[in-house]
Amino acid sequence: MAILTRLDEVVSLCKRRGFIYQSSEIYGGLASCYDYGPLGVELKRNVRAAWWKSMVQMRDDVVGLDCSILMHPLVWKASGHADKFADLVTVCRKCNTRSRVDHLASHADEHAAHVPVETAMKDAKDLTKKVCPSCGAVGQFTEPMAFKLMFETQMGANVDDSMTLFLRPETAQGIFANFRNVMDSTRVKVPFGIAQIGKSFRNEVTTKAFIFRTREFEQAELEFFCEPGTDDKWYEYWKDYRYKWYTDLGLKKENLRLREHDKDELAHYAKGCVDVEYRFPFGQGDWQELEGIANRTDFDLRQHQRGIRTLNAWHENGRDLSKVKLADEDPEYLKGPLSFFDEEKKARYVPYVIEPSAGIDRSSLAFLVDAYDEDEINGEKRNVLRFSPALAPIKCAVLPLVKKDGMPEIATKLYDQLKRKFNCFYDEKSAIGRRYRRQDEAGTPYCFTIDGQTKEDQTVTVRERDSLKQERLHLDSVLQFMRDKLDM
Ligand code: ATP
Repeated sequence: MAILTRLDEVVSLCKRRGFIYQSSEIYGGLASCYDYGPLGVELKRNVRAAWWKSMVQMRDDVVGLDCSILMHPLVWKASGHADKFADLVTVCRKCNTRSRVDHLASHADEHAAHVPVETAMKDAKDLTKKVCPSCGAVGQFTEPMAFKLMFETQMGANVDDSMTLFLRPETAQGIFANFRNVMDSTRVKVPFGIAQIGKSFRNEVTTKAFIFRTREFEQAELEFFCEPGTDDKWYEYWKDYRYKWYTDLGLKKENLRLREHDKDELAHYAKGCVDVEYRFPFGQGDWQELEGIANRTDFDLRQHQRGIRTLNAWHENGRDLSKVKLADEDPEYLKGPLSFFDEEKKARYVPYVIEPSAGIDRSSLAFLVDAYDEDEINGEKRNVLRFSPALAPIKCAVLPLVKKDGMPEIATKLYDQLKRKFNCFYDEKSAIGRRYRRQDEAGTPYCFTIDGQTKEDQTVTVRERDSLKQERLHLDSVLQFMRDKLDM
């Protein structure tokens, strides 16, 4: 089994095959921003759709939401992002490279996991043994300083009444802010979840790992609200459920693991947190986070109840976020708008939250890298992407064996029928072997070939990408064959 062992191999495969390009490349590129090409956009749409199907469509206890990216500034005061969302950074005096303090290791080849700023702060006191990941110099670092991660922008036409807003650094807060709306406008009852997929923005310090860490990225987040006391059970439940999602879609188990956070890695309000990690085969060959699953207790909903109480102070201070302090918690917070009244138990509480928070770009990259393979057919090397049918950018190709004898006509008719249901591809150029190879490289799981026999008995050849098996199928059953394979 062949694997991509270098990041530059992945980058060049993605560019060559039209998965991912550098943003603004004709202008020399824009660091850490990427564009999805014709195959990449389909892969990413399929990853999103698979997440939505599993997290919303298939579940009676989850509803969807799509919030605006720009939100009231107090949202970020209440969530803690406005005051605390920063990385500590330091610069190597020898080579001038800027690094996150929590990413520095004591050996050049050691992988340092992400830790909260408070822990990084403790580490920051002693950088004498830390190694620069760029030039290898030991302990040559400047005094660490905080680097704010939220992008700011101005809303409003006039300088006088314009307001500073933030591009959201996560989608989760839009869900908390709509908790009451969803409760009032639907028939959901705790336990239930609200799910959302959307863009988030972070002015990341280090971004050199292709689409793994970018400043604009897409998240898929679920906030699952449950009764305090049942949270441990739901935390375990969502860990298993999310792990299975990745493996069901084809990620190899040996490349996937759950890593429970140590106590000192946990944010102060979190009761538990586990990362779903994928072993990317390049770089240090190390395990990297695809998703975090956290038990966030009742922290977020309670914080937003404090946020609402801060509104007057914010207006009184000229809508300047830096001049207001978050209001204290109402001693009667249990009666607040973000609480839930359980009719059966006649009890009121602020629900606990289990949050599986995944990255669409990171998982797309993992699915792509994991699917890559090379083998040999009749002594000829073949590059193949073994995507699961659900994720494959093109589901099937229709290929007339030759461009004559009525074959293109039958093929076009079949193609017109199939493309109404899912993405497929029509190709009548070049030798059939080359056309198969092209589809293998794009990860297309099935090819239907129309040949001389088709006219006689209305059958076509179906060729499977992975097993290379070829069998004949009646023209009328092609659509159903594909539906079965795609589970639709
Ligand atoms: P990291 O430690 O890698 O910076 P994080 O712990 O800050 O990630 P979360 O805040 O838990 O990440 O975000 C949830 C998910 O969103 C991550 O698991 C990841 O898949 C995705 N994500 C977060 N930041 C980025 C980014 N800069 N680029 C791409 N995806 C990201």
